[in-house]
Amino acid sequence: MNVLLVDDDLVDRKHIQRTLKRGSADIIVVEAENVDLGLEQLKQNKFDVVLCDFNMPRKTGMDMINALKVSNESESKLGTPIIIISTSEDDALAVQCLEAGAQDFLTKTDITGFRLRRAIASAKTRFKLEERLVKSHQKIQVLAEQDGLTKLANRHMFDIQLEQSLNDLKRNKDRVALILLDLDHFKDVNDNYGHDVGDELLQRVVNRIKGCLRGSVVFARLGGDEFAIILPQLESVHIADKVGGRILKVLEKPFLIKGVMVSIGASIGIAFCPDNAKNRTEIFKFADIAMYKAKALGRNQIAFFEDDMQKQFLSRIEAETRLRKAIKAKSFELHYQPVFNGDNLNEIGYEALIRWVADDNPMRPDEFIPIAEETRLINELGQWIIDQAIHQLSLWNNAKVESDHSKSRKMAINLSPVQLSDINLSCFIKECLDKYNVSAENIEFELTETALLDVSEQTVQVIESISALGCKIALDDFGTGYSSISHLHQFPIDTVKIDKSLMPTGTDKEKNYKLVRGLVAMANSLELNIVAEGVETLEQVEMCQKLNIQCLQGFFLSKPLSVSHIDDMRRALTKRKTINIKD
Ligand code: C2E
Ligand code: CA
Ligand code: CA
Repeated sequence: MNVLLVDDDLVDRKHIQRTLKRGSADIIVVEAENVDLGLEQLKQNKFDVVLCDFNMPRKTGMDMINALKVSNESESKLGTPIIIISTSEDDALAVQCLEAGAQDFLTKTDITGFRLRRAIASAKTRFKLEERLVKSHQKIQVLAEQDGLTKLANRHMFDIQLEQSLNDLKRNKDRVALILLDLDHFKDVNDNYGHDVGDELLQRVVNRIKGCLRGSVVFARLGGDEFAIILPQLESVHIADKVGGRILKVLEKPFLIKGVMVSIGASIGIAFCPDNAKNRTEIFKFADIAMYKAKALGRNQIAFFEDDMQKQFLSRIEAETRLRKAIKAKSFELHYQPVFNGDNLNEIGYEALIRWVADDNPMRPDEFIPIAEETRLINELGQWIIDQAIHQLSLWNNAKVESDHSKSRKMAINLSPVQLSDINLSCFIKECLDKYNVSAENIEFELTETALLDVSEQTVQVIESISALGCKIALDDFGTGYSSISHLHQFPIDTVKIDKSLMPTGTDKEKNYKLVRGLVAMANSLELNIVAEGVETLEQVEMCQKLNIQCLQGFFLSKPLSVSHIDDMRRALTKRKTINIKD
């Protein structure tokens, strides 16, 4: 057994040395005459126990206890229990030493070989127990502070660190930036490829982001696919922008995980203290609002908190709450706008358009559809629309107006880009077609060109599988966006709908007429069906006829109508025809 004996009194050292050795031969005692020399010894050798005098001239036994505690924590000298020896019989001092971390306290008058050895043995045992306790405590602490999957700091730890950074701010006059980051459409990855792929994606994303950060920066996982980064002591706000930009850049390259290529973007919100926020709660809320804004702006981008954001945010939240309630209460119905044959102006089909039926202040579709898209409520709502519209078409086609050229009507249904990320969409459509016994070719799905701008392989698959069912695909709002020939080639498009803003009117009449003529020529050359929407005047009807546009839709011919309205008209038409036949 190796014992380090620290005592400034040479006589006492020799006495203790003899006492110890008398009882057992295998004890090696190394002597040190003050705390510093003792610590030197501890750095070089491993000891089973330290016996340390309390009363020494410069540093006392208490200094030795504290020094050992520090080195114990850094683990290098774990395993060195300490016993304090003192001339004093002061009980209070003994308690102080034990509380500070000593394993035992002996008075010099008490020292006999037996007592010393017994004290050493029990000090060692006690020390081992303490050590075990410390280790399990450390383990619990890691669990409590770390996210299991990514090994990043967790929410709890993040809160502590954020508070700390903001406290430091009071001393130095820089700023703290809080970056909140949320992966775009991460849920789709989990839903489509399973949680194993989702988990690995999170780990790989974290590794890439770590490469953009300095070591001292706090990077935490707040839960799910939400992360936070604290940039302390920032001289300039541009640094936060740069870090955000680098993160978006490193995420650009898709990840190959378990054989599938996964692309993921991120929406980033940034707020500063003290520039924007006064405290932890505020900076978090403001960075969150900015992140929300980044999502609303189309995702995969950075947004900084600005003052008027909070107002906008609150009214957005209110709208979202109303929408959720309305969906729950089924406060929607579909209206149908008739579509007419360009030559003879016979009704040939309908476009289903959703209406919010609320008693007070209902929102228009162009107000609530974007919110439904952002919140993905459109998936649920969209399925209801598809089911409802196909059902309605089956009812109308089964009860055709007599002598109505006996042709089945067609139904156009709008699809949001968000719905295209649902790989089960075509199965759902097929079920509806079967359920209501409607032929696929009578259903046309309208997609906007922007939906086709940034498509993944999976979106292409969804569009192709809908087309493979036999349903038609129309490109909506044609002429407003990119009107790219490549879209018309790349996707199985059957129809283009020339946007209502292009209908020639007023001062733009000549210019728009030429534009529409050009678009019609382009669509004709690709043998696509053409629908002109927003036809509001007789002149526009005639212009469309001159350009041989096959289908017309617009307020001049008919507004979108409720089912009961259309049913009334059909009944009136049947009655008129019956009377005509009788005549
Ligand atoms: P959209 O798909 O371009 O629908 C045509 C819009 O033009 C409809 O507005 C319709 O009422 C309006 N419209 C029809 N004829 C005329 C006309 O002659 N002049 C003018 N100025 N407007 C005309 P609505 O119903 O308010 O819908 C607005 C947008 O909301 C739609 O544009 C579509 O993007 C979206 N939306 C409506 N219903 C649905 C739906 O069921 N699902 C999805 N995903 N989006 C929908
Ligand atoms: Ca449409
Ligand atoms: Ca349109």
